Amino acid sequence: MKRSLLASLGPLDPTPIRHAYVHVPFCASICPFCSFHVAVRERGAVERFLVDLDAELAEVAEHCEVELDTLYLGGGTPTFLRSDELERLTAMVTARLGWPKLEATIEIHPSTATAERVRRWVELGFNRLSVGAQSFDDGILEALGRTHSAADTLDIIDACLATGAVTSLDLMMPSPGQDVAADVARAIATGVPHVSVYALTIEPGTPFAIAGRVVADGDAAEAIEGAAGLLAAAGYERYEVSNYARPGARCLHDQAYWNARPCLGVGPSASGLVRLGDGTHARYSNPRLGEWMAPRGPLSIAVAGPGADAVAGAGAGGGDPDDGGDASEAGGGEVDLMTGEALMGDLLLCGLRLVEGVDLETVAERGGVDPRLVRGGELKRLESDGLVEVRGSLLRATDHGRMLLDGVASALM
Ligand code: SF4
Repeated sequence: MKRSLLASLGPLDPTPIRHAYVHVPFCASICPFCSFHVAVRERGAVERFLVDLDAELAEVAEHCEVELDTLYLGGGTPTFLRSDELERLTAMVTARLGWPKLEATIEIHPSTATAERVRRWVELGFNRLSVGAQSFDDGILEALGRTHSAADTLDIIDACLATGAVTSLDLMMPSPGQDVAADVARAIATGVPHVSVYALTIEPGTPFAIAGRVVADGDAAEAIEGAAGLLAAAGYERYEVSNYARPGARCLHDQAYWNARPCLGVGPSASGLVRLGDGTHARYSNPRLGEWMAPRGPLSIAVAGPGADAVAGAGAGGGDPDDGGDASEAGGGEVDLMTGEALMGDLLLCGLRLVEGVDLETVAERGGVDPRLVRGGELKRLESDGLVEVRGSLLRATDHGRMLLDGVASALM
């Protein structure tokens, strides 16, 4: 069995793929809000992950033309790997895919970082450092199950900025009792050129959901828009629903993702998008950790995340992504084949997250279906409701529409 679903998809478009996401599934502990598929480190698990990751990278390199512009190393907690392990991982990516020419991002958990380790990550080739701050209030951090203090985060941000790499920090809101304005002010005061602001959502199956926590939609929207106003006043340009940057500091990888550019997903549960030789687009999610490792026999490992019980240590699943219609499962992974209106909907859903919007001409060319022809009535209604604007061939969500983006996008699907 192949680890990468790409090998099952048939010939790909020969245009080189320029973006890749690599997923490291390990964390020191599991945050109670987290819906990502992650595992705590156990004896032998990281070694086996690295060996299997190299096998998948080899399969991908064999199956695709790749000339990377951007790489995003996420998780999980990539910086939970020891320095020698991260060095091996970056050497594997370089050998199999080539190191990206423009941008290499690594997600940093403050509790795993020291100034010396940060310098080492930059020496390894990472030129964009994304720090998971979440809040600068120790009480909120504790409630979120984070294992670092605000002081730890501030020290690490200083260390990141001192390297000269583009530094970003993540905030999460709203938590009960969180002073959103104070958190945003602390973020701005650090001097980072990029901030991501995420709504705390209670995903089914997470400890927060099991404990009955809820976040009202209105509270989340109020917090996010409050943060947006403060960041704008401080000179950060909002370029995507969750992302704000000073000039020159936008994340190239995220922009490629939201423009639905082909992007490899490598590692357990990683997602990717590729274009097949016949123009069909395929979104795929790799099998989760237990099944991803299954070609060499299942590994018993503590896995967290919704549905974890069903997959931890599971054997190889069956299935062929080319069988059974547009969406199918293969070995626990999933492939969604998109053409026509399905592809058009996907391109609109992604592009509307970008503040600059989405070019309808490009959507029509890529999807073979022109939204102005097949969704003309819906576009007019959304425009008259003040949710979108159409300027020439450019469609963008208004500030109000961006707060109701799921509804806007589903009207156009
Ligand atoms: S939020 Fe981040 S650090 Fe916490 S469990 Fe999820 S991936 Fe790991």
